[in-house]
Amino acid sequence: MNNKEATLSIIKPDAVERDLTDEIKNIFIQNNLNIKDSKKIHISKDEAAEFYKVHQSKPFYNDLCAYLSSGPIVVMILEGENAVSLNRKIMGATDPNKAENNTIRKLYGISIDKNSVHGSDSQDNAKKEIDFFFKN
Ligand code: GDP
Repeated sequence: MNNKEATLSIIKPDAVERDLTDEIKNIFIQNNLNIKDSKKIHISKDEAAEFYKVHQSKPFYNDLCAYLSSGPIVVMILEGENAVSLNRKIMGATDPNKAENNTIRKLYGISIDKNSVHGSDSQDNAKKEIDFFFKN
C-alpha cells in the first residue's frame, strides 16, 4: 500500500549546538525518510509561543518557548511512507530516559526539555506545522 506522507521535523537548539545536524539527518535518510526541504533559522519567543500554543496551559510552556527560541534550529519537511508515525518511532519517547535504544532521543537527548528533536504527532498537525515554517 502506498501511503506517502509529509511531516515536520525540528532539530532543537541542544542538538544544533552540538553539531548533530548531519548525524540526525542521516538517521532519517537511512530510515527511508526523504528530506524534501530544510532550513536553519532562529525564531523569536513569540513565534515559539505560537508554534507550541497547544501547550499553553501546561506548567512547562514558558520554559519550552524560551528554549526553542534560545538558539538556531533546523526545520525540515520529511517525506515517505507513513512519515508521521515513522518519524515518531525514530525519535523515541518524549523523555530520553524512557526512549527505546537507538532512537534519536535515546542517542542524543539530554533531558525532557533538551530532547533534541520535534516531530508532528498527526497528519493534521503535520500540515499545520509545515505551513507554519514553509508557507511563503
Ligand atoms: P513530543 O511530541 O514528544 O515532543 O511531546 P509533546 O508535544 O507532548 O511536548 C512538546 C515538548 O514539550 C516536548 O518535546 C518536551 O520538550 C516538552 N515537554 C513535554 N512534557 C513535558 C513535561 O512534563 N515537562 C517538561 N519540562 N517538558 C515537557
